[in-house]
Amino acid sequence: MKELEDRIRKDGIVREGNVLKVDNFLNHQCDVSLYDQMGAEWARLFEGKRIDKILTIETSGIGIACVASQHFGSVPVVFARKTESTNLDGEQYRTEIRSFTKNRVYNVIVAKRFLNPGEHVIIIDDFLAMGCALNGLLEICDEAGVVVEGIGIAIEKGFQPGGKELRERGYQVESLAIVDSMDPETGNIVFA
Ligand code: 5GP
Repeated sequence: MKELEDRIRKDGIVREGNVLKVDNFLNHQCDVSLYDQMGAEWARLFEGKRIDKILTIETSGIGIACVASQHFGSVPVVFARKTESTNLDGEQYRTEIRSFTKNRVYNVIVAKRFLNPGEHVIIIDDFLAMGCALNGLLEICDEAGVVVEGIGIAIEKGFQPGGKELRERGYQVESLAIVDSMDPETGNIVFA
């Protein structure tokens, strides 16, 4: 998506350790008009699919998914919560996710009553890198018995293996910008 690539070129900051900082418009300060264009693009890419719900993960996915929902008939957005608690009360799907940027492991939960067997969902998130966040959400979807119609990602770092592995598993992964390479010295970003 050209608008997103242009914005990454303009405002993205390449950090050491393969981290792209986009907090000026995507995951701290939010450009709602850009979110809206992203939602429209996912609606085009997933056209014809039955979508009952959008699943995402806090924090950065929530705003993006909520704006996108308006392009999918305002379906409910469910976000997985990161929690310190290891309390297993049977009312929640629970998994562990390793954070690429923070290098720590989170417990992630979704209340069972918000994902019902047979529902069709798309998963939306801001970044796809190693695929840990997505794999955790897919485990929850599996356990819940929902049908995953696709995965919408704002920025995929194509030089990390998450996207390739998910496509090989048969998921329709629609990343609106795929970064092929980025250089922390020059700030240069190459898109696929
Ligand atoms: P993964 O689980 O695929 O390794 O990484 C996905 C999650 O890590 C995303 O939800 C995002 O929060 C974070 N992340 C991964 N790479 C980057 C990056 O380069 N920049 C930022 N800002 N977040 C990232």
